[in-house]
Amino acid sequence: MSAHSSISAAAQSPLPPPTTGGAIHAVPIGITPQPPLHCPVAIVGAGPAGLMAAEVLSAAGLKVHLFDAMPTVGRKLLLAGIGGLNLTHAEPLPAFKARYGARAADCGRWLDAFGPQALRDWAAGLGIDTFVGSSQRVFPRDMKAAPLLRAWLQRLRHPASGVPVRFHMRQRWSGHLQPLAPAAPQQTPSTPPTTPTTPQSAHAAPPGYCLHLQGPQGQTEVHARAVLLALGGASWPRLGSDGAWMPWLAQHGVALQPLRPSNCGFDVAVGTRLGWSAHLQQRFAGAALKGVLLRFTDANGQAFERRGECVLTQTGLEGSLIYAASAQLRDAIETAGRVRIALDLKPDWSRSRLQAELERARSGQSLGTLLRKRLGLTPAQVALLHEVLPPEQRHDPAHVAATLQNLPIELVAPRPIAEAISSAGGVALEDLNDALMLQQPLPGVFCAGEMLDWEAPTGGYLLTACMASGRVAGLGLAAWLRAQPTAASTCASAATEPQIAKQPPPNITGDIAALG
Ligand SMILES: Cc1cc2nc3c(=O)[nH]c(=O)nc-3n(C[C@H](O)[C@H](O)[C@H](O)COP(=O)(O)OP(=O)(O)OC[C@H]3O[C@@H](n4cnc5c(N)ncnc54)[C@H](O)[C@@H]3O)c2cc1C
Repeated sequence: MSAHSSISAAAQSPLPPPTTGGAIHAVPIGITPQPPLHCPVAIVGAGPAGLMAAEVLSAAGLKVHLFDAMPTVGRKLLLAGIGGLNLTHAEPLPAFKARYGARAADCGRWLDAFGPQALRDWAAGLGIDTFVGSSQRVFPRDMKAAPLLRAWLQRLRHPASGVPVRFHMRQRWSGHLQPLAPAAPQQTPSTPPTTPTTPQSAHAAPPGYCLHLQGPQGQTEVHARAVLLALGGASWPRLGSDGAWMPWLAQHGVALQPLRPSNCGFDVAVGTRLGWSAHLQQRFAGAALKGVLLRFTDANGQAFERRGECVLTQTGLEGSLIYAASAQLRDAIETAGRVRIALDLKPDWSRSRLQAELERARSGQSLGTLLRKRLGLTPAQVALLHEVLPPEQRHDPAHVAATLQNLPIELVAPRPIAEAISSAGGVALEDLNDALMLQQPLPGVFCAGEMLDWEAPTGGYLLTACMASGRVAGLGLAAWLRAQPTAASTCASAATEPQIAKQPPPNITGDIAALG
């Protein structure tokens, strides 16, 4: 299976609801009311970005508490691995960076510090060998995410040096994020703040933040000197990242771009009808169109032309070729309400050769048989031609040949974000400093991963940038804490976290079974 189709296949695989069997269990953290958990660093979101941030912070000697709403970590990463984990890409770095489009400069800076080769070396450090596929995509040797995640969790919990990361699963951040007041001698740690407090001046960093997390045993209040949010985008919300944080951060004055589907399929219209004919839906939904050439003009008037594979769906088209163009297609639809694409079903044939074959005497053969036998079209390709070519035009070989190489399809809407591989939009990078800190509205709060406003096609670019940004944010947070007046270590003592139970050993077997 190609890497392209593997992502598509994974996207279609049914995912049962979260299970607890054999998974990393929720850490029981008491019944409300309870004293707040004091810690130097709270990370919310245990996907690749949050885990990478946790790793560098742990290595910097900081005690990290990592919270996630789901019963187990890295569920989207695990799903990505079901069809073959495309970790990164082996093309030269300038070309790699260009995949991030308008955000190439920002993402490029993260990648300068942790690029595709560094990611492969990092995986090797976990005992996961990688190889470069024929498309230059990079995969773990066994194509899976689970061994990598298992080894990663083991290292985070038992680092050779550094501080073990503390995991708190089934802890959903509710959006409550209030700056703490400077410590007052009369205040006791068990007194939760009743009214929001603000930093002394608009530009001064507060001594930390109070977060509320909801778990099976009630609400937990966390007081952290610095916070790192790695909440993901809004695709596949069943896996935990649902974009619910958007209005919460907006309330704090964080500049946000709307979350939109990226690497997604599209709905079509044929003439005045939305969607394919019943015949095409029933017979050919799920059929692949291989080796086709996609052409269209984007919203900026730029011509797009690429060869690859797409898939007919119930309502339109999806697949790696469509994903590769999805940002431009989505933007073109937003601008004009629809976009016309052209598929060349026989890109290796000259027009004259095609026409000559079609002009040869048919000896009673139907057009469909001729197209299949002489031109080698698949039944799905023939059905697609019939879909767009009215019967009266099917007898003109020149017209049929021209349509085969320029098959017009109207795309009218991207599929919903919940079905997309990833999302675009999120926290505006302009609001973040180079360390990915929300310096103006929320000094001491850092963001990383897919929740930031960048997008990239499939091909390993998503995971690479998520991990690279997690690393930048983690290192930035460590440096920021070091520069703050109060030493980070004074915040975390065993006495201030009595409610944290001893955690079970890492085990993601149950979760992998559930995903499979
Ligand atoms: C089917 C599929 C296949 C993919 N395949 C690939 C691939 O092969 N290669 C590639 O590069 N990319 C792939 N991707 C994309 C990649 O998996 C994501 O870009 C990546 O996981 C994003 O990482 P992240 O850490 O930013 O967010 P996520 O992995 O989404 O993690 C965010 C975490 O935050 C938690 N969270 C969210 N809100 C809260 C809250 N309020 N409180 C507590 N926790 C919260 C979530 O539970 C989640 O665990 C694929 C995606 C899908 C859906």
